[in-house]
Amino acid sequence: MTDLLRINDLSVVFNTDAGHVRANRGINLNVNENETVGIMGESGCGKTVLFLSILHLQQPGRIASGSIMFDGRDLTRLSGNEMRYVRGRQIALVPQDHATALNPAYTVGQQLQEALNIRRNGGGFWAAARAWGQRKGSREEIKEVLDSLAMGDLVENGRLLGRYPHQLSGGIRQRVLIAMALLARARMLIADEPTTALDRASREQMLEVLKQLRGRVTMLIISHDLEAIHSTCDRVAIMYGGRIVETGYMLDVFNHPKHPYTKLFFSCQRFSRGDVLPDVTGDVLNLIDFPAGCSFHPCCPQASPICSEIDPAEIRMGNRTVACHLYRDSGGP
Ligand code: SF4
Repeated sequence: MTDLLRINDLSVVFNTDAGHVRANRGINLNVNENETVGIMGESGCGKTVLFLSILHLQQPGRIASGSIMFDGRDLTRLSGNEMRYVRGRQIALVPQDHATALNPAYTVGQQLQEALNIRRNGGGFWAAARAWGQRKGSREEIKEVLDSLAMGDLVENGRLLGRYPHQLSGGIRQRVLIAMALLARARMLIADEPTTALDRASREQMLEVLKQLRGRVTMLIISHDLEAIHSTCDRVAIMYGGRIVETGYMLDVFNHPKHPYTKLFFSCQRFSRGDVLPDVTGDVLNLIDFPAGCSFHPCCPQASPICSEIDPAEIRMGNRTVACHLYRDSGGP
């Protein structure tokens, strides 16, 4: 398998009046072509900053170090103009706030047609003019994509293409955004919390869509929904305090988590009525003033003296990586 995305030692910093917020610290991650990778972690762990950085949308944060290689090019070195040709055309985003992601002044049909025009003609006024003569065939292609996203019936009974975004449910708006990415033939799709704020039926439909896309499109799914990641991803990366603390094949990590944070995170997520929540000591992590050593040590039930002195390196064990001193004799950084 070949890497489509490879992030090396990425650090992102926000300069604030209170100090430097280190939102991403030495992130290493790769996503292979047609692979689906999930990013999980609690709120504030840096997963949103990570995907925004891939798209150069992390401002006012700045990329302090590292590289983001996408299809052989380092995105951190591209200009604003060059990035405009990456966003939407090569990397498409389905944001959590899908209500504002579509243009409220155009119908769904017009926006899907525009995605198609951009792919065929590169966008802009002349592209729109050229596209005028190419509308034949567009409807069939749009219909085909909408069918694949379980929206064909909405087209048939006229309840989609002529509608404006505010007339659609959140679940349909998300699927329209995915349809635009597919029509533009984006190389990678980033979905931010794709199952959040949806009713049960829409959530099930979204999971079904993501399962259908798995293996056909390269996807990065950011979520704290354990079931969503479990049912849609090939590999998963767990983040804590701006770092990736564990990565591996989804079933390996889910069934046998190694990092103490991953174990606690999963046990809290799998909590159901009647269970006793695990007791977690320590405070919420301060991203300006990290504790010495491993940033998780004030909360870690398995901490030892070395943990408060030395920040653990990422240790590779076969297909897994774990940043924890417990495994320092299991492999090398
Ligand atoms: Fe816990 Fe130490 Fe591992 Fe950090 S390095 S997760 S404190 S055992």
